[in-house]
Parts: sequence; structure tokens; C-alpha cells
Amino acid sequence: MEFKELGLAEELLRAIAEEGYVEPTPIQAKAIPLVLLGKDLMGAAQTGTGKTASFTLPLLHRMKAHANTSASPARHPIRALILTPTRELAVQVWESVRTYSRHLPLRSTVVYGGVDIQPQIQDLRAGVEILVATPGRLLDHVQQKTLQLGQVEFLVLDEADRMLDMGFIPDIKRILALLPVRRQSLLFSATFSEDIRKLADDFMREPIMVEVARRNSVTETVTHALYRVPDLRKRELLARLVLDRDLKQVLVFVRTRLGANRLAHQLVRDGIDATAIHSNRTQAERTEALQAFKDGKVRVLVATDVAARGLDIDSLPCVINFELPHVPEDYVHRIGRTGRAGQSGEAISLVSPPEQELLERIEKLLKATIEERVLAGFDGEGRPSAARAPREGGREGGREGRRDGGREGGREGGARSESPRPPREGTGPARPPRPAPRREEDPFFSKPYEAGAAVDKAERPSVPVSPVRGASARPVAALFRPPVTGPKR
Ligand code: AMP
Repeated sequence: MEFKELGLAEELLRAIAEEGYVEPTPIQAKAIPLVLLGKDLMGAAQTGTGKTASFTLPLLHRMKAHANTSASPARHPIRALILTPTRELAVQVWESVRTYSRHLPLRSTVVYGGVDIQPQIQDLRAGVEILVATPGRLLDHVQQKTLQLGQVEFLVLDEADRMLDMGFIPDIKRILALLPVRRQSLLFSATFSEDIRKLADDFMREPIMVEVARRNSVTETVTHALYRVPDLRKRELLARLVLDRDLKQVLVFVRTRLGANRLAHQLVRDGIDATAIHSNRTQAERTEALQAFKDGKVRVLVATDVAARGLDIDSLPCVINFELPHVPEDYVHRIGRTGRAGQSGEAISLVSPPEQELLERIEKLLKATIEERVLAGFDGEGRPSAARAPREGGREGGREGRRDGGREGGREGGARSESPRPPREGTGPARPPRPAPRREEDPFFSKPYEAGAAVDKAERPSVPVSPVRGASARPVAALFRPPVTGPKR
């Protein structure tokens, strides 16, 4: 199928051609005709499938009738509202809106928290037809009466599952109450839980479900591999992978903000350009880090799950899980950063013995066994013991001493090499389920809406994570400052 068969306006087809898109992705082919018909739509598609264009293009087409070059703000009311869970996703969606609307006199802007509100107010005063927003900051503007939502005709909830996870639903409901009843609503989500369906029932009219990827599936163009390695040697292995394979752009996932900072610093010490992106950095720092990575100035971007949501980096070839996520679905989200729009991508996980259970959960979700590889010098390390009872003995650390790497190198004639390894041996006796560990939470996203709340303060974690492996896990916040009282619910 070609884009021109979809009946989109010539100005849009031109912008698409300039982007070099040859044919619509499956979600685009399915969603665009329905949105053009004015239907409400629930799109089951994760980031990387081309979902942004699947709603942006038909909305722009439908708004073309209103496009005008008048200087009067009154001629540019907000007609399309696109809500996203994170600032990064908001910016990326807005970039897409600007790209596809470049030949149409339609105005757009983006508003999100954590930055000065004044420039946003100036943009809104001038009048915009398309507004991309994160829920909290949108409500700030509503409170300050710096925008009107009475003429909204199109609503998009992007990454609705993330909004739900982050506790945005009360904010979303407040926003919905401010919108005209007659409107077209679109909801996109990687997963469709009962809660998402309930939310959709509340605000959509006979929505049509459009699905392109199996629930919790990962893109087929991504290859998955894992290396067994003790925690203490993960950084060494990571550096080896980056240098030996001359990886130019790698997104590395860790679980905590402190872990992200520490790893980025250590990599720099190893001579690898690296930076960290996480929610404890200011918006300016995050934007700068992302830009340096996109521009190829920084080879490795170390990110936490929260900070990486919605990151869209063209042709990102490789994602490395330095630590496995506690929640298996986060593996799918992490991996969604590579192998986009049909390009090939690689997902590598560094798995230490204590992470065996997390690995098993991920494989269960994927319904697949991840291929195990061995890097010379690391063979025989980091494998779970036959009985695999690390929790009981807690002796995994005892296996972290360096083994004889020369033997492995010798097998390959001294050269460092990678060799595929047969699937793991038996997985050992079944173990009782362990309660899910607490997810790293970003207070900025989970705090309830409060008009004009001091975002910077909310971004700081109230309980710092212990930076030293093996150090006491007790909270130490009280040593530095009195406890921060959270906003009232
Ligand atoms: P998204 O899923 O919206 O985050 O899009 C993922 C990536 O695919 C973005 O970098 C888009 O620029 C790109 N993309 C979107 N539609 C197409 C298409 N039809 N052909 C090629 N690339 C596309």
C-alpha cells in the first residue's frame, strides 16, 4: 500500500515524502482511514510502530479546513489536544506534528512541567490549533486561564497504559470534563488492561480497536541476546561490548538514578563518551543529554525506565539492559526503543545470578528463550548454580571473582570473540513466587495534580537509593534533611 491510497491531503503527502517514508506502517494503514472517517479509535501499538503519524496525519487532514494565516489568536483555537505521560514523549510528538504540518498553516505547541510556564503562555496567547501536553502542566494552564479547551474537536491519549501506571487518571478525568462532548477521541496504548478498557468506556463513543502487535510482544526485527556475568563485572563487559563491536549509539538501562549517574561516570573514565538521563536531572540537562546522544556526540546514554519512556531516536541500533527490570513489561518497553519502523535492532541483557528469576519472568512474557552468548574472558562466570538457590545462600557474590579468562581467549587463538551458546541447561527446581520488588517511582509523575506545584522539589526522591553495593539499604535521607512531606492527596 502507498500513502497516496489513504486519501491524505497533498500537503501531508509532500511532508511524508520529504521524510523518506515509502509506505505506511501497519498501524498507519489500519488507523488512518478510520480516523479520517471520524471514528473513535483504540490503537494497540507500542512506540516504534509509527503510531504517532497514524493519528497525527489524519488529524491534520481533518483540520486542514480550518487552516488559515490570520494573525488573530481567535482564528487559532485549540482544536486538537494530544496528551502524553512524559515530557520527552510530548516533545517528540510535537516534533512529529511540526514535521507533518510543515506545509499547512496550522499552528502547534507543546506544554509540559518542570520548565518556566511563561514562554508557554506566550505561545498559547498567540493561538494554536494543536496542543501537545502532559496532564499536570495542562491543568496548570487551565487554572491560570491561559488556554481554552471549549473548541477541542480531537483528543488523543498517547501511551495510556503509562498514564495509568503513573497515576494520571484523576488528572485525565478532570481534563475530559473540560472538553466538548462532541469530539473524536483516540487512545493509544502498548497494552490493554481492564483499567484501560474501563477508561476508554468512560470517554469514547463505540471505539474501534486497531491492533498491530500482539499484547506484550516485541518487534520481530529485534534480536535478543544475553550474557551471563556477575554484577561486579558488568561494567567491564559493557565497555568491552561497546569498544570491541565499535557500537556508536547504545541506550543502556539501569534501575536507579544513582546507578545511571555512576555508570555514566565510570564509562567516561573507561574512555567511552557517556551521559545519563533520569528524572532527577533538570529538564535542560535531560534535553541536552538526549540531543548529544542523537547527534552522535555521546556514544552511550544511560537511562532509567521512567526517563526513557517515549524516547524516539531514529535508527537506534542497540539497547543494553545493564540491569534487568523488575517488571517484565518494562523489558518490552525498553526494547521498543530499537528495531523501529522495520529497521533491525539488537537487545542485549547482562544477567547476573540474582537476576535469574527476573530473566525467567521476561522469557515467560515473551514466550521465548533469549539466546545466550559468551564473550571470551567471561565464560563460566555469572551462571546460576545447578541448584540455583541464590536467595537462600546469598553466595552469588562469592562467584564474582575473576576466572581464568586466558583459557577462553586461547580457544579462539587469543582473539576476543563472541560465540553463540546453546540454550541454558535445566532451570532447576521451581521456586515459590517472591513478592514483586518495589518499582522505582518518580514522584514528579506520580504526585497528584497541584496547581503551580514546585516541580523541581517534587522531582527529588524523598529517599535516596544507596549508591554503594552491599551498603546498608536503610534510608539515609534523615541524615541530610528533614523528611519531605508529600503533597496532600
Ligand atoms: P513512533 O512509533 O510514532 O514513535 O514512530 C517510530 C519511528 O518511525 C519514528 O522515528 C518515525 O519517524 C518513523 N516512521 C513513522 N512512520 C514511518 C513510515 N511510514 N515509514 C518509515 N518510518 C516511519
